[in-house]
Amino acid sequence: NEYIALASRPQGTPQMENFSFNKAELGNPEEGQLLVKTLYVSVDPYMRGRMKDAKSYAAPFQVGEPITGGSVGKVLSSKHPDYQEGDIIAGGWGWQRYAIVDGKGQRKVDPELAPITTALGVLGMTGLTAYYGTLRIGNPQPGETMVVSGAGGAVGMIAGQIGKIKGARVVGISGSDEKNRYLKEELGFDEVINYKTDQPIREALQKACPDGIDVYFENVGGDITDAVIEQLNRNARIPLCGQISLYNQENPELGPRILPALLTRTVLLKGFLVGDYADENVQALQELGQWVREGKLKYKENIVEGFDRIPEAFLGLFTGENLGKQLVKVAEE
Ligand code: NDP
Repeated sequence: NEYIALASRPQGTPQMENFSFNKAELGNPEEGQLLVKTLYVSVDPYMRGRMKDAKSYAAPFQVGEPITGGSVGKVLSSKHPDYQEGDIIAGGWGWQRYAIVDGKGQRKVDPELAPITTALGVLGMTGLTAYYGTLRIGNPQPGETMVVSGAGGAVGMIAGQIGKIKGARVVGISGSDEKNRYLKEELGFDEVINYKTDQPIREALQKACPDGIDVYFENVGGDITDAVIEQLNRNARIPLCGQISLYNQENPELGPRILPALLTRTVLLKGFLVGDYADENVQALQELGQWVREGKLKYKENIVEGFDRIPEAFLGLFTGENLGKQLVKVAEE
């Protein structure tokens, strides 16, 4: 069986040499276990954090061990009563062509309901993250202005659309005109900003948000966020979802001290992890599914083909190669 391991811990931006391709005997499933063939894997920015040897909410990857992460596969044989050969499941076994997994902790995917890839995107962790951040923390109201950073990516694109569903005026920030065109023309974002070319971003924001900003769905951190914070309205809310611009910095630079602005404008800033709301997942996935079926929520997947290209797809997250959810197709069903 082929798997991809962490070969060394990255310093700064991860490189191909931080990954190694390996082979090992797989063995046979025992009582309660399943043998699965990987069909798709998800590559995600949070995996960068797991490449560090630091304590966090998810345990660090170990050098030499297979990299684990969101994956969808087909059950080839089952020793668990809830699963049978041919079932499609989503789980977290990750960057391996085949895997033996515990039946417990997997989620059955119904291919009749939606394409199976959506279990890793809009109807999986990505969609749930956007849903909880927007609705449980951001709480956009009709007529309010909601700004989304990382808006051309997986989570940001969905968060912005949920803002639109709730009646907010939504402004997306991404690093490419192609992404911005898609946000505006296909997804109905009201305004878009390209943080690479619309400089200074402070002025671009002022133009796009003449009434100030009420909700900031925060995915990136850094200069973009500093500029947004200056323009927050009284009682604004910030779902703090991610800080991708800082993940590869060995010594994070210090930005402006933002707390006075948050104090005087009585802003709510709340970090959250998608898992915090796991008790609500069934209901949240139902609502997301409903929106998708009604055509109110569109999703976009950026699928590269080939097991060998998983590391490349992961590295592409940090250079913005993906429009929407980045997935890798590993095998045919
Ligand atoms: P994306 O699909 O958004 O991919 C990452 C995108 O980030 C890239 O496409 C790129 O787009 C942008 N980006 C990369 N580097 C920078 C930079 N230096 N400055 C600004 N933008 C940058 O990934 P996800 O949707 O999966 O994740 C988005 C965020 O949400 C991440 O920060 C992630 O860590 C976080 N997250 C948090 C979760 C939680 O539970 N709190 C769960 C899941 C994700 P561009 O072309 O615009 O530069």
